[in-house]
Amino acid sequence: MGDSKKLFDERFKHFKDLEPAELKDGNSNEILYGSRFTRQEMPKTEMLKESMPARQAKQLVLDMCQINANPRLDLASFVTTWMEPEAEEIIAATQAINMVDVSQYPQCAEMEQRCVRMLGSLWHAPKPKSDDQGEQPLGASTIGSSEACMLGGLALKRRWQVARKKAGKPTDKPNLVLGANAQVCWEKFCEYWDVEGRYVPVTKDYPVMNPEDARKHMDENTIGLVVMFGSTYNGQFEDVVLADKIVAEENKKNGWDMRIHVDGASGAMIAPFIYPEVEFDFRVPNVSSINCSGHKYGLVYPGVGWVVWRNRACVDESLIFHVAYLGTDQPSLNLNFSKNANMVVAQYYQFLRLGFEGYRDIMSNLMKVSGHLAEGILGTGHFKLIGGGKGLPLVAFALKDGRKDKEGNDCVYDEYDIMARMKEHHWQIPAYTLPDNAKSQKMLRVTVREDFSYELASDLITDLKTVIEWLDHHFIYSEEKMNELRGKFQAHHPSKGKHHNSHHPANKKKTGVC
Ligand SMILES: *Cc1c(COP(=O)(O)O)cnc(C)c1O
Repeated sequence: MGDSKKLFDERFKHFKDLEPAELKDGNSNEILYGSRFTRQEMPKTEMLKESMPARQAKQLVLDMCQINANPRLDLASFVTTWMEPEAEEIIAATQAINMVDVSQYPQCAEMEQRCVRMLGSLWHAPKPKSDDQGEQPLGASTIGSSEACMLGGLALKRRWQVARKKAGKPTDKPNLVLGANAQVCWEKFCEYWDVEGRYVPVTKDYPVMNPEDARKHMDENTIGLVVMFGSTYNGQFEDVVLADKIVAEENKKNGWDMRIHVDGASGAMIAPFIYPEVEFDFRVPNVSSINCSGHKYGLVYPGVGWVVWRNRACVDESLIFHVAYLGTDQPSLNLNFSKNANMVVAQYYQFLRLGFEGYRDIMSNLMKVSGHLAEGILGTGHFKLIGGGKGLPLVAFALKDGRKDKEGNDCVYDEYDIMARMKEHHWQIPAYTLPDNAKSQKMLRVTVREDFSYELASDLITDLKTVIEWLDHHFIYSEEKMNELRGKFQAHHPSKGKHHNSHHPANKKKTGVC
């Protein structure tokens, strides 16, 4: 030991006190990684005093993004991650346009109105008998479904308030009936606008709102019923026709005038193309408004959503602000003022480019790919599907109950372990639990989007098998079984037992692993 240390010092003594000259004060601003900006901390709380060359700043920002996941492998999200190059060119060309400024950019406002009318027609809004604005479906582009849902909810609330006031009744306790599986924007709506959310419980066997159960949550203060057309949890469509029947019965029995808002964030851009017979839209009498996310199955990059009302009578005039710059009446109904017009333009491009048949072909491909994925996942023998019936192109699945290893021991890993291991294969697959009464049901969800091909689905299935095999090897024993084995091992190798490797995943408590 001592000898080799001496030898080492002897051999490398000329390196002692050697200073690399280049480390001194290089400042080659033209060279990206040769400048001082790449060897100092980036500003985090205050701006730098001085400016930075554009190339440098760009590189630093792009470098920061390196740690982000690959959006196309993010299977947690419904939001568009791929568009055609032509669409990207249009988006770039129109990104300086402010949507709100209809006097300057009347053609963007025109595209917005065309999109609203196309959606109204796709969702079977009654054909206006005249050009009278009162008969036209009313709608707006928004930043996404969240803003669209806020507007839908506000219209329900104001309508109820106006009627109550007219009847001389109090308006201080509005409530909204919706499933416990409702998307978080509805909880926000209730919280932000002082409406009591009455959540209809869901169960493991019926993980979406059952309209029959919604009935007992309604009263004279109910501003409306929200139906998830494509539940965020498992993609299943809630039953709008049954919801309508319940609402009609309750209205008749109690003399109410309750209406339905359909949250079709994803489903309203899927069903019309591949399940034309599913009535979720204005064909259903009490549906007064529908929203969708243009940036989900509307196939546009993030930043656009839509809300459409059956007709103008559904929205109290007090919510509509009038902008008269154009010489014609421009009703404005938004929470935001300024926003980019480019995603509205991109939506119009998609409607023009794809047409009904284009959307139909894409959506039916998505259903085929999600069918292939579901088959592959079931084919591993380890999983069951969550929910059923018609729904979005996604696979919601969970480990089979009571899984055992070959020796009959209980399986000790869960869906969260699978999520963590799949991440090592670059797949983002969220694990979560169903809401309220069904909380004990853990699950995983893979969302199938336009850019998720059959081939990628096959790759995912292969990786899922690898992950299960890995977990079966490393996590198969319960803590009791491990202790038993450790006991046996120590009895045979008393000295080795002490060096028990606590870092090996199999030797950790399951919950400590991910
Ligand atoms: C995604 C989603 C929302 C929120 O939509 P954003 O466009 O992300 O604001 C609301 N409701 C449902 C059912 C959704 O799936």
